[in-house]
Amino acid sequence: MQLIQGAKVAATVLEECQREIAELAKLGKKPGLAVVLVGDDPASRAYVRSKDKKCKDLGLHSVKHELPENTTQEELLALVAQLNADPSIHGILVQSPPPRHIDESAIVRAIDPRKDVDGFHPENVAKLTLEDPTGFVPCTPAGCIRLLQDAGVATDGAHVVVLGRSMIVGKPVALLLMAKNSNGGNATVTVAHSRTKNLAELTRTADILIAAIGRPLFVKADMVKEGAVVIDVGINRVEAPGTEKGYKIVGDVDFDAVAPKCRAITPVPGGVGPMTIALLMANTIKACRQLG
Ligand code: NDP
Repeated sequence: MQLIQGAKVAATVLEECQREIAELAKLGKKPGLAVVLVGDDPASRAYVRSKDKKCKDLGLHSVKHELPENTTQEELLALVAQLNADPSIHGILVQSPPPRHIDESAIVRAIDPRKDVDGFHPENVAKLTLEDPTGFVPCTPAGCIRLLQDAGVATDGAHVVVLGRSMIVGKPVALLLMAKNSNGGNATVTVAHSRTKNLAELTRTADILIAAIGRPLFVKADMVKEGAVVIDVGINRVEAPGTEKGYKIVGDVDFDAVAPKCRAITPVPGGVGPMTIALLMANTIKACRQLG
């Protein structure tokens, strides 16, 4: 069994980023990312902090906007407009989920698609579907594909079952896998969700299984084919009495039970998670290059 070490692959992506940043510096350019957080959800706050820190570590220009819970939609739209117009900012990310009174899709649509490093703007969703390389691919799905490539897992002709159909993970990863190329594409893809019948029967047919459902340890050994490759996107907080924090992070896959059957598998933490932030940096650099 091969352990797919996301942290190591992410470090390689970040080294590539560093080289590109140095090249851009020679041209007098410095990629800039603005991260916007509304409210004080602790998990979102932690994500925003780590994105800001990673930018600074790499030498990117990073701006963090932390707005109070009662920020209005108009105020948030005004900030997005200001960031759209700011030439020192190439990537804009509004941390999800915003408070309930804010229409998230209106915010996403307001971001200049050329600065939409999350890849959630309809223009970038269309570009992903059209396989237009100028678009921004959402970071987590892009991270999954890079992990497969790095582990030497060929997707050409493979049957991939994707568990989950969200716009953030399930759908875009399915599009990438079925894209007409041999770099993580050319797979035969089945997307499953909460209404899928006979799920275990289906997942047992997968050469590659991608789990992105947000259900702790949901995928058990009897749901996986011998020799399958398993990518676990799930990040779930479960109680862990007796530990310092009182909780621990587990994936959507019951790793201990499933790993012995696998050809390769990602751990949680240390699998897909570190890739997401590394690909965000890569998208910000791409935005800087494309904006010229
Ligand atoms: P969503 O809640 O948006 O989507 C979950 C999907 O899973 C839905 O399509 C849902 O089906 C499906 N689903 C839920 N329960 C079942 C079930 N019992 N059987 C089959 N399908 C089911 O989640 P996200 O896509 O945003 O995130 C998924 C997981 O990935 C979470 O744990 C999240 O924390 C993690 N994540 C990790 C990231 C990383 O950096 N590693 C980044 C983003 C997310 P339906 O559509 O029918 O409701």
